[in-house]
Amino acid sequence: MGGHSLKPLVVLGATGSIGGQTLDVADGLGVPVYAVAARRASDALLAIARRYPDAVVCVTDPGDRRDGFLSLLGSRVRFGPGSLTEVAATPDTTVVNAIVGSAGLRSSLAALYAGNRLALANKESLVAGGPLVAAALEEAGEVIPVDSEHSAVFQCLAGEQEHAVAKVVLTASGGPFRGMNREDLAGVTVAQALNHPTWAMGRRITIDSATLMNKAFEVIEAHFLFGMAYDDIDVVVHPQSFVHSFVEFTDGVVKAEVGHPNMKKPIQFAITYPERVATDHEPFSIAGKELTFFEPDVDVFTCLALGYEAGRVGGTAPAVLNAADEVAVAAFLDGQIGFLDIGDVVEEVLGRHEATAPRTVDDIFAADEEGRERALEACRRRAGGA
Ligand code: NAD
Ligand code: MG
Repeated sequence: MGGHSLKPLVVLGATGSIGGQTLDVADGLGVPVYAVAARRASDALLAIARRYPDAVVCVTDPGDRRDGFLSLLGSRVRFGPGSLTEVAATPDTTVVNAIVGSAGLRSSLAALYAGNRLALANKESLVAGGPLVAAALEEAGEVIPVDSEHSAVFQCLAGEQEHAVAKVVLTASGGPFRGMNREDLAGVTVAQALNHPTWAMGRRITIDSATLMNKAFEVIEAHFLFGMAYDDIDVVVHPQSFVHSFVEFTDGVVKAEVGHPNMKKPIQFAITYPERVATDHEPFSIAGKELTFFEPDVDVFTCLALGYEAGRVGGTAPAVLNAADEVAVAAFLDGQIGFLDIGDVVEEVLGRHEATAPRTVDDIFAADEEGRERALEACRRRAGGA
């Protein structure tokens, strides 16, 4: 009898890692899928369109498959970025935002202003547009985190008073290069960086996990989701990924959320909250498990320090952090720059940015564009061997 009180889903980024797992969770719960969206008119999206024959299908950049999609899907297919903000604003839906990058921000805002629940995997919405998402939340809608660490914190905070929260401690797997020094990192390959030890994810977040930029984003995400000061957000490296995060209270009590690393749990919880719906899952037994925890090495993994820095500066600085990283990660994946160049490019671009307080989404995207242009230039310079 699952799904009786659950709203239909709008799944943005349906062809991705989180998007695909969201569709499986939806089927398990028996929740209807009202709309799906992806960047390209791919065969993967077509297969999803066939799996949900009544769903609206949105494509940001259809390219030369526009007419093909139109003839196959007829009036249920819509094109362009505006089609995503439009479906995200469908009343009485739950919007799962699993887009990668700051491209997800407008859809998050559209979902909130329509009064919808936003099940948020797209952490870049909060990194790039935190002040605007916070302003939207004052008016309408709600955000339930999908990111595993933030889902853990959210669950630890259930039933607690805000003033009793002392600290949030986010766990990080440390990625494939934990324990390495800068000389080791200078020579790592794209294939090594894509080989994450505990999570199978999209390419961008996998690289961000290897540099710890992902954790930097998650610190900023926690700041906006839970209203925590940066001094009260810590990061601890925990290679096994069993403890998904901790919350420490003013009386010294510490809570954690623990289990097998599996994104379907936080995805489902964000959809069913405040209900829990039983699933067929692998039972978790703590006996015999080795759990270890280390301080992150910010002198080697400089991106984590850059994240705190950008977060503390605030305003448009985190938007530039994200934009520069999106460009640098793409250049690394393309073989144009080395692994350590990612952090160096972001540091350079962030250092040149004069942050302002964003008032509109256009202010965010102006900073985003500046960050992209300067990062492209910095990558070109490095690729040129100068
Ligand atoms: P992915 O690369 O596997 O999928 C990204 C999806 O976004 C695809 O469907 C793609 O078509 C869509 N997309 C990309 N650019 C778009 C655009 N301009 N307009 C519309 N759609 C666009 O990525 P992922 O790993 O599923 O990650 C998605 C988000 O979830 C990211 O913000 C990531 O940080 C976050 N996240 C992912 C995981 C994970 O386990 N994969 C865990 C926590 C958080
Ligand atoms: Mg995470």
